[in-house]
Amino acid sequence: MSVDKLPAQVERLIRSEIRDMKAYQVADASGLTKLDAMENPYGWPDELLDGWLQRLRGVSLNRYPDPGAGGVREMLRQSLGLAEGLELILGNGSDELIQLILQAVAGPGRQVMAPGPSFVMYRMISASVGLAYQEVPLTPEFELDCDAMLLALAKFSPDVLFIAYPNNPSGNLFDSGDLASVIEAAPGLVVVDEAYFPFAGKTVMSWLDRYDNLLVMRTLSKSGLAGLRLGYLVGHRAWIQEFDKLRLPYNINVLTQVSAVFALEHEDVFAAQAADIRRDRKVVMDGLAALEGVRGYPSDANFILFRLPAGTADQVFTRLREAGVLVKNLGPQGGPLEDCLRVTVGTPDENRAFLKALSNVLT
Ligand SMILES: *Cc1c(COP(=O)(O)O)cnc(C)c1O
Repeated sequence: MSVDKLPAQVERLIRSEIRDMKAYQVADASGLTKLDAMENPYGWPDELLDGWLQRLRGVSLNRYPDPGAGGVREMLRQSLGLAEGLELILGNGSDELIQLILQAVAGPGRQVMAPGPSFVMYRMISASVGLAYQEVPLTPEFELDCDAMLLALAKFSPDVLFIAYPNNPSGNLFDSGDLASVIEAAPGLVVVDEAYFPFAGKTVMSWLDRYDNLLVMRTLSKSGLAGLRLGYLVGHRAWIQEFDKLRLPYNINVLTQVSAVFALEHEDVFAAQAADIRRDRKVVMDGLAALEGVRGYPSDANFILFRLPAGTADQVFTRLREAGVLVKNLGPQGGPLEDCLRVTVGTPDENRAFLKALSNVLT
């Protein structure tokens, strides 16, 4: 094959859905205060680091990991108090779990649905496995539009419905009565994505007893272990054992397994950090409220979506970055997110730096 034929070959061999996609973009944060990706800003205290390094010494990198990561799963089972009949599966981040679920249901005529705007990976992974994707708009206040959801469920009969609870990028928890109505009406699987559970306190985990089409997904990423890549999905064994067939062997590497067990033994440290972040979320919210022309949306997560005067978001984003603060610009997603930026709650110093920079940019 000669090189000048390459573009034609790519076009012939790579599916058009893939060619039409854009790779997930991650902004370069070097030298900036990084408030764009919902990371926990806190490291571990020294004694904890020492204990962790000690534990890593015992790892056999020459051996394959425990294929089912039994140690991690058992600790999570205990910590969640899972009932008999419920099972959990681990993913290399919850992104991998979204992929497993969608690979398992993909096929001609199959449909995925989510309210929107929501987490972009639902749409991207649906496209990657050739699934049709229906987005049902949230209300202008980013609440679940229950009537619209019920109509759309009846019309499209989606095989999988994703609901982020709290939602990303809006940060709010939907009304739990609306959520229950939607789950009851859904003809297929409902995945409630609780990535921000540590900052919300509310969960539908106990609803698994009531709804056999429900799956609950969580991740350790937002609570302080984004670099580890570990997510988990809980549901009735009948579902989970099917997803487990698609899971690649050894998807959770030994370093992640050992580190996650260690971290779960010290859950209190992460809980305390989450409590600090919840406290500081209010400080950032109050700071935003004090700025003319800025509207922060109520958040149950570790970030805040905020709206700027029409047509200014791109410029404010750029000037914040010039001032050394990286947030997420949601303007390019358009629709109700035009004019919106999203800031992660950082340390008190980082939050002050952000609020000061924003205030300077706006005046
Ligand atoms: C961040 C995020 C995830 C993905 O988390 P990983 O476990 O890091 O892959 C999933 N869902 C939502 C809503 C998120 O915001």
